[in-house]
Parts: sequence; C-alpha cells; structure tokens
Amino acid sequence: MSAPAQFQAILAKLQAEIPAFWLNDRLGQPLPADAPSTDLIADAEARMASCAPLLAELFPELNATGGNIESALMPAHKLKAALSRDGTGDTSAWFIKRDDALPVAGSIKARGGFHEVLAVAEQIALTRGLISPDDDRRRLNTPAVRAVFAQYTVAVGSTGNLGLSIGVMAAALGFDTVVHMSADAKAWKKDRLRKRGVRVVEHVGDYAEAVAGGRAQALALPHSHFVDDERSALLFFGYAASARHLAAQLKDAGRQVDAQHPLFVYLPCGVGGAPGGITYGLKALFGEHVHCVFAEPVASPCMLVQLASHSDSPVSVYDIGLDNKTDADGLAVGEASHLVAPLMASQLSGVFTVSDDALFLNLRVLKSSLGVLVEPSAAAGIGGPQWISDSPEGRAYVRQHALDMNQATHVIWSTGGSLVPPEELQAFHDHADELARRGQTALLTS
Ligand SMILES: *Cc1c(COP(=O)(O)O)cnc(C)c1O
Repeated sequence: MSAPAQFQAILAKLQAEIPAFWLNDRLGQPLPADAPSTDLIADAEARMASCAPLLAELFPELNATGGNIESALMPAHKLKAALSRDGTGDTSAWFIKRDDALPVAGSIKARGGFHEVLAVAEQIALTRGLISPDDDRRRLNTPAVRAVFAQYTVAVGSTGNLGLSIGVMAAALGFDTVVHMSADAKAWKKDRLRKRGVRVVEHVGDYAEAVAGGRAQALALPHSHFVDDERSALLFFGYAASARHLAAQLKDAGRQVDAQHPLFVYLPCGVGGAPGGITYGLKALFGEHVHCVFAEPVASPCMLVQLASHSDSPVSVYDIGLDNKTDADGLAVGEASHLVAPLMASQLSGVFTVSDDALFLNLRVLKSSLGVLVEPSAAAGIGGPQWISDSPEGRAYVRQHALDMNQATHVIWSTGGSLVPPEELQAFHDHADELARRGQTALLTS
C-alpha cells in the first residue's frame, strides 16, 4: 500500500497500539460531487417531529417528552477540573452530550435506528395506500397497518446497540424482526431483544461478518428491508438530525459558536455512521467553526486508517496487522462505512486512538466527577480536550487555525450505557478500580 507520508509517520504507532492523534490533512477540501444533499437533514428532522406522537403512543417512557428522542447537554466543569492541569487559567467550557441516556434504546443508535425504521414504515404504508402524506403518523399503529407490517421482515447486523435500536422499534410497529449479531455481542442485549419477540441470529466472527450474513439472508426474502450499517443514508441522516437541537442547547447554555468561539466535538467512532452523521449535521450549521474529532480504540481505528491512507478502496485495520479486539464493543469495527468515509475526508479535523485501559479510567473519572455511568465505548471521547491542549498535534492544529481556546466549547459525546445491567456496570468499575490501584492514571499515554 503506498500512502501519504503522514500515514507512514503514524503507522508504527498504530501497529504498536500506542495512542495517537492523526490530523486530517484534507480538512476543508470540497465535498465529493455525489455527496448527499443537506436537505435530507431537514427531512429527517421533520420525520422525527411528525412521528413523535406515534412514538409517545408506542413507548410509555416517551410520554413525558411527547415522543421526542433527545438527550441533555450536561455541563461538565467537574470533569474538566478532574482532568485538567491546575493553574493553566483555561476558561473553556466542557459539556457531556448524554446520548447514553437516550430513551428506549439507551444509546446513540436510537437516533439513526429509529429514523430508518420509521422511514421504512412510512414508505410501505404510503406505497400500499394505507396512509396519505399528511396523515397523522399514529395511523401506522392501527390494526390494518400492523397486519401489513407483519408480512415484512426488517433485518440488521450489529455488535449490539444498533440491533437493540432497530429491533425494539421494528418489533413495536409489528414487523417481523431479525437481528444478526456478532460473537462479541453481549448476552443481555440478545436476551432483551428475544423478550420483545425479535429473532436473534448469532454469527461466529466479527461485526462485518454479522452484517454480511444478515444482508445475504435478507436479500433472499421477498418482503424485507435490511438496515445496512455500512452504507445506509437513512441511518446517517437520523444522526445528522441531532445537530439543530444541539445548537439550540448550546445557545441556551450561553455558548456562542463563531470564528472567535470555536466548538470542539469529540465522537466515539465504530463504523462511522453515528459520528459521521452528527459531523455532517454540525458542519452544515457551523461550517469551519465546528471542529469534529473522532475517538477509536487502538485495536480498531478503522476511520483513521481509511482516511489517512487516502485510498479510494476499502482499507481495514486487519490490513495493518491489528486484531480489532477491544472491550468497547460498540466500536469494534474493522472497516469504515463506505458511505461515510468519503464524506468525512473533508469534514473531520482528526482522529485519536484510545487504549482499553484508558476507556476504563475514563469511565471511572466520569462517575467520580459527574456521577454518570456509561459503557466503555461511550467513554472514548473523554481524552479529546487533552489531545487538543497537551499534544504537539493538538497545539499545531490550534495554531494553524488561529483558535482562541479560552473561548472554546468542548462537547464530549457520551454514546451508550443506560440500559446496561447494573452488574455489568459494576464489573466495568471494578476493573477500572483495579487499574487505578495498580497506579494507572494517565489518560493520554504516548
Ligand atoms: C455504535 C456506537 C458508536 C459508534 O457509532 P458508529 O455508527 O458505529 O460509528 C459509539 N458508541 C456506542 C455506544 C455505540 O453503540
């Protein structure tokens, strides 16, 4: 593989699984000519708004919010105080975006997953003449429509959280629902789905094999829709629809975003759909004033290798000798989304990698400073502000863009955890306590 010098320079670190920060040298270039229209972001927002009453009807836990699927933007100055060096006088503001607590699905996958299932349900109902475009979407939850949905199969391949999101929503609408899961998916996720009447098919092998197996089986069925995490635009725009609400939350918190007030957003990345969609949405609103950085496990930096290689064909973490084995099961993806990677090539500021030990130490500091309990994947972004302020790459980025970091807002996107059973959460924290006892504290190891 011939690759840019920048990739060669970071390759040895990646192969040794040493945490690293790669800056995207193509940031700011034009989007590809075939990039999807940003009008699709507004479409997704409108769809989620028109389906809110339906969601409130389907899920009692959404009554309080009128069916709105959104999460809090939580001030995180205590986390900042716990992680920052004293005496730097840095006046930036830190927040945690609490998608770990998104209702019904308990992870960021609620955004993309619910949007895709609702879009598919609408499409079927419209083509079969069961609803008209302006009808109240609660009509999708009537016996005649549900009887039609029961003839259709909705299928997905997943390491876990996407399966939970798609499975719960599709089953609630009455679809025949199949979730293909990889060997590393957690038992409690499979159990939860089976209890809701979802068929769970287990695949030996990794995430990509579960997706490929699911795709092949779904294509063989007459009335079926396969939610394709490696290339779905409906998932992507479901995530992108989060941007406008975040912008309103920042405004309410008194945070400006413009040339003098940069916004940094740190997003855990698996296949890239969720963080990529959010980046696309935020870039459409804030342009060059938002700086999006992905976080990936040291064993699974699939977006990093795809983008850093500048290759138009797929590059996987296996190609550089990594094993894609991580406790961050939501991020254990070897090859980035074919839809998302080309879009991120000009939008993403960079990617940093995180060791599994650091994920657990992050979990621990999140709990001790803010009382927030998350799953390991969700803790990947926490080192982001430090990479910007304390690493040579981060400082170079700040200089190059002439940013006033004292006016910066840092948003660390937390992506999953509220449905994890208490005994599993306890096991994460026991492990983190053990690491801390052994004297491991550094969040950034270099
Ligand atoms: C899926 C997931 C991500 C990343 O989303 P991708 O679309 O796979 O990049 C991050 N955190 C959690 C908890 C997830 O489940």
